[in-house]
Amino acid sequence: MKISKKTAFILIKNAVLSFIVFIVISLLSMTIIDSMQAEVFTATAYCSCKKCCDKEPSNKWYGITASGRQAKWGTVAVDRRHIKLGSRLRIEGFPDTVFRADDVGGAIKGKRIDLWFPSHRKALEFGRKKLVVELVSDL
Ligand SMILES: [Zn+2]
Repeated sequence: MKISKKTAFILIKNAVLSFIVFIVISLLSMTIIDSMQAEVFTATAYCSCKKCCDKEPSNKWYGITASGRQAKWGTVAVDRRHIKLGSRLRIEGFPDTVFRADDVGGAIKGKRIDLWFPSHRKALEFGRKKLVVELVSDL
């Protein structure tokens, strides 16, 4: 009776140890993958107005992004040497939106992104923030 209890205890201890090792390895590999896909960018905001994009509403390219799509919520301007056009991004603070790198901008160089907003006032309200930007991988 005593031996079997001891054996049971050792079996449980081993199982718990293997479980802990498994969790630690999983966490480590997740951290490594995250560090390759997520980085801190300085985020600012813009809209389609003349101040931001230097195009009048009468211009046929008004509101059209560098990739040829209509700018809308979720459109982000990037430096295409860092993030290629068409990439899908998750941005800290906007858990419900998958953003798309569809635009570029003269001031958007390096680790900078520019979020499109529907009005100049909303773009000004956003201001400038340092946010974690995560590349959404294509599955
Ligand atoms: Zn504007």
